Amino acid sequence: MIESKLPAVGTTIFTTMSALADECGAINLSQGFPDFDAPEALREALGRQAMEGHNQYAPMAGVLTLRQQIASQLSLHRQVRCDPHSEITVVPGATEGIFCAVMACVHPGDEVIVLDPCYDSYEPAIELAGGRAIHLPMNPGDFSVDWQRVEAAVSGRTRLVMINSPHNPTGSTLSLDDLLQLETLTEKHNLLVISDEVYEHLVFDGEQHHSVLQLEGLRQRSFALFSFGKTFSVTGWKTGYCVAPPALTAELRKVHQFVSFVGVTPVQLALAEFMGKHPDYPATLAQFYQHKRDLFCRALEGSGFTAVPSRGTYFQLLDYSAISDAPDTQLCEEWTRQHGIASIPISIFYENPPEQQTYLRFCFAKSDELLLRAAEILCRI
Ligand code: PMP
Ligand code: GLN
Repeated sequence: MIESKLPAVGTTIFTTMSALADECGAINLSQGFPDFDAPEALREALGRQAMEGHNQYAPMAGVLTLRQQIASQLSLHRQVRCDPHSEITVVPGATEGIFCAVMACVHPGDEVIVLDPCYDSYEPAIELAGGRAIHLPMNPGDFSVDWQRVEAAVSGRTRLVMINSPHNPTGSTLSLDDLLQLETLTEKHNLLVISDEVYEHLVFDGEQHHSVLQLEGLRQRSFALFSFGKTFSVTGWKTGYCVAPPALTAELRKVHQFVSFVGVTPVQLALAEFMGKHPDYPATLAQFYQHKRDLFCRALEGSGFTAVPSRGTYFQLLDYSAISDAPDTQLCEEWTRQHGIASIPISIFYENPPEQQTYLRFCFAKSDELLLRAAEILCRI
């Protein structure tokens, strides 16, 4: 009847696991979203903006006051200057921005280097563009990147490298040295970069986030993607932005205007208003989430799980090899049904999962009380 353009794709693991958690009444540490609300002033602003009649189409690139706030946040938090008119595009979620960036630059037959475990939306976008994802595994153990291996995978068809830091699902981060190596490599081989930085503010232990926007050479060839969903605990508002040099932005917008055209107007106005009044809000997030990570990990001391240090994001990998040698997908489902605790298996983010893949991902963007209840269950497994 219809020949699938994505024959290998099913329903995402996040949708599947949240549905299973609901069905089983399990504690849901699977799909990444906070169980607490966004700042009241932000929610109040959204209601008011809608009531005041800001309910028609926004400009295609996004409400200008929001783009101006984004530019001042980039200046405040990253010390980079961006032109709101030609370099910043508001998108209805980073997922849409990533999709549009891939569509804008991948031609049929092009190769795109992705690093496994790799966020689930990247490869379908590459395939729909007619490209081919070249999967390279991150180093086992610490999930660092072997840039020599990346360079060895570059061919005459390579167009793009996709990176994600802080990294979902592992919680690893790229250092300044990583970005310098990427800069050298992409300049040498004339490659573009999509840099997924949606967890930019969730970096722990006094470390700094390193953005492609901070290295001039890298910035000139990069689409950097961000999400308000993570920063302001409004994943359901599906709003983010892409920062890219004018020539890349122009191409991104050509696609964006025919995928969604615009993001939601009152949401953009509410975000702009809140950001104007609370420019330092993102700087509070690292400490807030580090507390949750530490609470969860401390409560697991004495359990059979080993926590892989999470340096960023709101995810914690737990190694269960001391408890079971069953596949992560099987355990994930069993433990949701039998123990009432839902997580995410990470083998599914690989083209070729390592033989012994014994990690599950747990989201700690939850109330302290829920995290302690979850840890209590895990300690009994
Ligand atoms: N990239 C990564 C690594 C993510 O974890 C997510 C979502 N949680 C996204 C992109 C998509 O963000 P958004 O919800 O803004 O589309
Ligand atoms: N990015 C979220 C996660 O990693 C899920 C988003 C989605 O469900 N597509 O859990």
